[in-house]
Amino acid sequence: MRTFRLLPAALVIAFTAALAVAGPEARQQGGRVKALVGGTLIDGFGGPPIRNSVVIVEGERIKAVGQVGTLEIPAGAEVISTEGMSVLPGLWDMHVHLMINGHSDYAHWDRTYPDRFESVIMPASAKQLLLAGVTSARDLGAPLEASVNVRDRVNRGEIPGPTLYVSGPFIQHEPYPGTELFRWGVTGEADARAKVKTLADAGVDVVKLIDQDQMTMEEVRAVVDEAHRHGLMVVGHSHRPDEIRIGLEAGVDNFEHTGLSSSPEYPADVIAALRERTANMSRGPLYWTPTIEGLLNYEALRDNPEQLDDTAWHEGLPADIIEDIERSIAHPDRLPYFQLTPIRRPTLARKFQQLRDAGVVMLVGTDSGIPMKFHSSSTWRELDAWGNILGVDPMTAIRGASYWPSVAMKVDHEVGTITPGKYADIIAVKGDVLRYIALLQRVDIVVKRGTRYR
Ligand SMILES: [Zn+2]
Repeated sequence: MRTFRLLPAALVIAFTAALAVAGPEARQQGGRVKALVGGTLIDGFGGPPIRNSVVIVEGERIKAVGQVGTLEIPAGAEVISTEGMSVLPGLWDMHVHLMINGHSDYAHWDRTYPDRFESVIMPASAKQLLLAGVTSARDLGAPLEASVNVRDRVNRGEIPGPTLYVSGPFIQHEPYPGTELFRWGVTGEADARAKVKTLADAGVDVVKLIDQDQMTMEEVRAVVDEAHRHGLMVVGHSHRPDEIRIGLEAGVDNFEHTGLSSSPEYPADVIAALRERTANMSRGPLYWTPTIEGLLNYEALRDNPEQLDDTAWHEGLPADIIEDIERSIAHPDRLPYFQLTPIRRPTLARKFQQLRDAGVVMLVGTDSGIPMKFHSSSTWRELDAWGNILGVDPMTAIRGASYWPSVAMKVDHEVGTITPGKYADIIAVKGDVLRYIALLQRVDIVVKRGTRYR
């Protein structure tokens, strides 16, 4: 609190307001022993839920998991009732863009706000995700320094947000004009290695590859190989068939999006190559983040845009930015970004099913931050789309947003399930989420690393 004296008054007010939203418990990491008592626990491993559960949290970690009547609640513990609720691991969103907030004009955004990415915009996005129950998120594409700094500030507990895993800038053939801050082009094998090494040395958690079908095979191999040498997974775009073919050949670990535009299905040779890859047990699972809800839900949003008026996405953003975003999405039906989406939509279920049939491990990710897609509400919509539009059973969807992301990021010994010894990343929501997954749109309790934020 001492440092407050050194801060300008406006900052003090902003910070105090943040604490008020986060709740008094957020003032110190962890706080005293907590007991979440009574709710039905979905631990993230996929087995039957545990009725009348008790989860004991000590400091940042889960101390014990059991049931009322058999697991004793330590004297002096702060008891948090979860009666009537589903209790589950904090959600992961494996594809977010903290540097954007739903504005429809990327060129305008990229030229107007870079000097506010790190100080205002990325922290606001992070806070919105956390309050929506997202306790871990993977940011795929932002300026390097801002990415690492915001991640570290969140992970040190200085600002509220999910535990972050960041890629920093995209690696690609050539940045689109005006995007050089967060897109790095590579020319030749040596340059590819050097750029990946720069990212690794700066401490990124993952390497993001895009437009790999415009690079030489040597360049793509160099990117993947150098990333793997530094223990970093490579996430690749899969909008075009050759991005997948080349990505698979080079050893990309995780593909993003449900691509191929309005084409009705993935070509047979791509599916055959995927099946060959998923059969190769020694290489571990092949991950796929379909980021599909925005495409499936666009027409419904266009015809009833009321959700855009929900002020949850204003959290942490100053009035001028909010107004700019609002102006840009005043006519959801006119946005060029989505004009082809109604033609793509009928193809999505088939492509999603092809991927599932090929044996990939699906991860929940949303591309949150793209036009009209807010960090405050993207993640539950992806889970809902899997469950209620694409027929995925809710437990599988929840594991795609908890257990599997933690395995993919190689932190499953620390998070991803509600297990003694792991970080206490726990959410709870009134009602039965295994029957009504859309309940996740209004989480009642958010605990991250033992600190309660909601
Ligand atoms: Zn993206």
